[in-house]
Amino acid sequence: MKDLHARLRERLDKRHQAQQMRKVRKVASPMGRKIHMGDRSLLNFSSNDYLGFANHPEIRQATIEAIEQYGVGGGASHSICGHSEAHDRLEQKIATLLNRDDALLFSTGFMANLAVMTSLLERKDAVFQDRWNHASLIDGGLAQPGSFVRYKHNDMGDLKAKLESTPARHRMICADSVFSMDGDICDIQGLISLANAHDALLYLDDAHGFGVLGDNGLGVIDYAKLSQDDLPLVVLTLGKAIGCAGALVVGEKTLIEAIRQYGRSYVYTTASPPAIAAGVSCALDLLLTSPHTRQHLQSLIDAFISGAKAIDLPLMPSSTPIQPLMLMSEDAALSCQAFLEQKGILAMAIRPPTVPVGSCRLRITLTASHSLKDVDYLLACLGQWFEENR
Ligand SMILES: *Cc1c(COP(=O)(O)O)cnc(C)c1O
Repeated sequence: MKDLHARLRERLDKRHQAQQMRKVRKVASPMGRKIHMGDRSLLNFSSNDYLGFANHPEIRQATIEAIEQYGVGGGASHSICGHSEAHDRLEQKIATLLNRDDALLFSTGFMANLAVMTSLLERKDAVFQDRWNHASLIDGGLAQPGSFVRYKHNDMGDLKAKLESTPARHRMICADSVFSMDGDICDIQGLISLANAHDALLYLDDAHGFGVLGDNGLGVIDYAKLSQDDLPLVVLTLGKAIGCAGALVVGEKTLIEAIRQYGRSYVYTTASPPAIAAGVSCALDLLLTSPHTRQHLQSLIDAFISGAKAIDLPLMPSSTPIQPLMLMSEDAALSCQAFLEQKGILAMAIRPPTVPVGSCRLRITLTASHSLKDVDYLLACLGQWFEENR
């Protein structure tokens, strides 16, 4: 125990010296355009609440009413007696909306990805994942019994070579639809044609696409008009644009049934509160009836990109609400973050191991609750920091 303590101390000290410690900061307000943090109100450019749904009055009301009806706790796992009619309605609703056979609700996206990977693959199978996939996909890939192969980011040539050289009985290809730290979109058509050519199951993680991409905001399926044959399985998370919590795995019925039966992070966990499912159902209705919210978000993204270009800010090529400002070193990223905070802006630095060494960034996210004035103010402050530090 003493040895373990010493080892942990040493590791923590190293992380501290590398300026990689994560500080968990207390928030004393609902999520929104401004949040109350450390006795200050900060203009928030760090949430994934892309549509401003996390504190939306109608979604709050639907959730409160469902608490009146169903109480708070899920009480049991889905397969015992925790599968509420509110959960069931939500699963049916999303399957219909996305024109898929079936859907399965999870408490978190992390648990969904663990279940998908570990319940579909066996020894002698292989999963091929983009190197920049989310940690939950990577951990799921490591936890499943087959081979785990990572290909270069969005590099279809590398994926093709790896598909050709890896012997496997069954293959799965898996990528983020929108990459969470870079904001770029995966090569959807490239992935579909390689999946077809190599008889592989394609699985996309639409955590940052659902609610944002597509004519109706229904994510990557809507954006690229993907049939169930094109994309047999997708996960969408409900804690980002949808503003609630949980995740839905949606797709072909045999795949969904296998995950329902064998997914340990589905079977051996308490069902999420039914009221959350009711809140999500309300958020889905709002999504379909508020194209103006997404149009406003798009106009903010356009304004940010063109404003940043005009003053030569180092952005990544992203057309989504995730706009990484590349600062490379820990020092620069932390200095810029602190400067913005003095100006009343929250834009958190992202550092290794979340991103590769030497690619520290401010992960700026735009949401529909911002105004054009907010974006202009952010750009003005960033311009000032770069002027003083270039
Ligand atoms: C956030 C995220 C998850 C995890 O979802 P949670 O519901 O927050 O656990 C999974 N995949 C991606 C790409 C994400 O960004």
